[in-house]
Amino acid sequence: MSILQIRTFPDPVLRSRAKQVSEINDDIKNLTSDMIETLIEAKGLGLAANQVGILKRIIVLNFPEKKPMALINPEITKKIGRRTVEEGCLSFPNHTGVVERSLKIKAKALDEHGGRLYFDSEDLFAQVLEHEIDHLNGILFIDHLKKHEKLHARKFEYPDQTHQHDLKIQVEVVKDEELNENHSKYNEKLYSEIRVEKMLEALEKGNLLVDLSSSTNVKEDEKLVGNL
Ligand SMILES: [Zn+2]
Repeated sequence: MSILQIRTFPDPVLRSRAKQVSEINDDIKNLTSDMIETLIEAKGLGLAANQVGILKRIIVLNFPEKKPMALINPEITKKIGRRTVEEGCLSFPNHTGVVERSLKIKAKALDEHGGRLYFDSEDLFAQVLEHEIDHLNGILFIDHLKKHEKLHARKFEYPDQTHQHDLKIQVEVVKDEELNENHSKYNEKLYSEIRVEKMLEALEKGNLLVDLSSSTNVKEDEKLVGNL
């Protein structure tokens, strides 16, 4: 098992469509193990293969108190309702945005042994499935930003307690300057300095960042979740 480097926005691989997995062989199993190890290192909830530079339809999930799992060729079969939530993405480290997501999702996938899985999910699980399956289609969470919304410079911290029945994640507000100046805030095992620099440049260029004065206001009605 090894930790893989995470691709950051605007890497073109994040805008590419991943291809169906036709055979679940040892290469695929090794890749899912590496992706799970990477996700655990990143303290994220979900990771898509595009995010490690591989265009195969594979996502991995790691929810507190659950065993990490890999979904192969996942597909959404139904979306129900809309809600507004704040979310982050491992390809936009230390940034979050307010997006619209479905209330409930029905999905299907294969497990690592080729077994069929069916999901009837809601809330955070539905949000993560939607976010990760979007990745496989080259869609990013910034495509779902609410009108006039921009990204906030924030850092998610998982609480230390092991029993987290409430999945809300604690948020530490980090000033833009601190994030820019101190690259050690990005895990070096996961993010190369050049990728982080390119991302910050692209976010700035694309006018995707809120100004510092408003980035410290965390609205109470926004539900914050972890990195997807
Ligand atoms: Zn993501």
